[in-house]
Amino acid sequence: MIQIVCKSEAYTYNVYHIVKAFFPSEEIINRVEEKASHYVMVQLPKQGRIVIGRDAGEEADRQLLAGKRRKLKYQIDISLYHELERITGRTLAWGILTGVRPTKIAMEKAKAGWSREQFVPWFQQDCLVSAKKAELAWEIAKREQALLSNVDYEEGYSLYVGIPFCPTVCTYCSFSSGAIADWADRVEDYLDALTKELAFVGDRYAGKKLNSIYIGGGTPTTLTASQLERLLGCIDTHFSREYLLEYTVEAGRPDSIDQSKLEVLRRYHITRLSINPQSMQQKTLDVIGRKHGVEEIVEAFCLARKMGFANINMDLIAGLPGEDLHDMEDTLEQIGKLAPDSLTVHSLAIKRAAKMEWADLERDTGEMSGMLSDMIEAAADAAAQMGLLPYYLYRQKNIAGNFENVGYAKADKMGIYNILMMEEVQTIVACGAGSVSKRVYPDGHIERCENVKDVAFFLERIDEMIERKRKLLED
Ligand code: SF4
Repeated sequence: MIQIVCKSEAYTYNVYHIVKAFFPSEEIINRVEEKASHYVMVQLPKQGRIVIGRDAGEEADRQLLAGKRRKLKYQIDISLYHELERITGRTLAWGILTGVRPTKIAMEKAKAGWSREQFVPWFQQDCLVSAKKAELAWEIAKREQALLSNVDYEEGYSLYVGIPFCPTVCTYCSFSSGAIADWADRVEDYLDALTKELAFVGDRYAGKKLNSIYIGGGTPTTLTASQLERLLGCIDTHFSREYLLEYTVEAGRPDSIDQSKLEVLRRYHITRLSINPQSMQQKTLDVIGRKHGVEEIVEAFCLARKMGFANINMDLIAGLPGEDLHDMEDTLEQIGKLAPDSLTVHSLAIKRAAKMEWADLERDTGEMSGMLSDMIEAAADAAAQMGLLPYYLYRQKNIAGNFENVGYAKADKMGIYNILMMEEVQTIVACGAGSVSKRVYPDGHIERCENVKDVAFFLERIDEMIERKRKLLED
């Protein structure tokens, strides 16, 4: 266990996340002691104690009173990072950055007229980001900027629809999805509530331009063909496709896909499909709780292609239990043969809500970080060989080595919804259990509104969820 004591609440967030990035598997207790004589104290399990600003008690108070909190916070982050780097002998690819959207910083600098030559060294020196990641952030920001220049995103909005059911629950999953078999007799009730919510949004935003729709979850294709028909029919009734640039359905798990469901998706003009193997190693699929074979992934992909889906994404996860670099390279080779239009490569994150624990990986943090770094690089090389370019990036908490998730795609198949969502430049109205709507105001200010995660509560409280949305979306 690691103990952190900060003099001010203002330091706790960054300090916690920097320490967590170096020690993702450790439990951390974080508290504030306003009378402490230091800014920050971190008691590590074996490596001793780090103290930042020893005897800085009164000076710290003076600086805080003088409004120098931001500068002080930055200095604390840098000092803490260097101490942790010295003690562990490791660096973090994204340095002191704790946020989930590092490309947002690159976008802001690009908008302010910075050049690559200005940005890359600044990002390395000021935020301690590695040279490769600084280059990647800039490349992606410039690509996103070019893509967004073709979308009238300020006038429009996007719609997210959540289906919180899956064939089985994967061991690493921290979403609030349930196994479809446990919910079979409530799925129609769920669609009743969801379609009521969708009808409200369609009516409320009737005058606005809908740019993209993303049906995710969970696994939307756990719905039967007729349930899918009901859902997509409702969307067709209440929303216009006049300004629609992209319509995605996550078919996620191959064991949820069949011809009749794909026919429904074709009929409703779905433009982008996601079929997510996560790994092409049978031993891994078995360990993570997926009850299907590698050959089913290939069959589902080939069926979708045969039926005319011209934009198919595949998701992979680097660092799954029992996998090494060789497994990842083999997976990438098999994916390469299928030639998807986009590939999203995640770094394994283990959150509290998941069944899987760090101990299941049977690797220490240093070993895990090194392996993830190699896997991520192998994925980047394979994506380049498949003709796919990096176009969006985000990070999650609790990734060993503080790595990232990257979306690669063919130049004309980049997921618009993903960029709009990641860069937080457009209002996203989200329907369904556990979904989060974000209203983006013209000055960049963002307001959020959450739906309850629990499906039973969502059904009971649907009118309250609609009321929350009414408030969020009012003029
Ligand atoms: S398919 Fe995705 S949402 Fe469903 S259980 Fe697995 S990780 Fe979670």
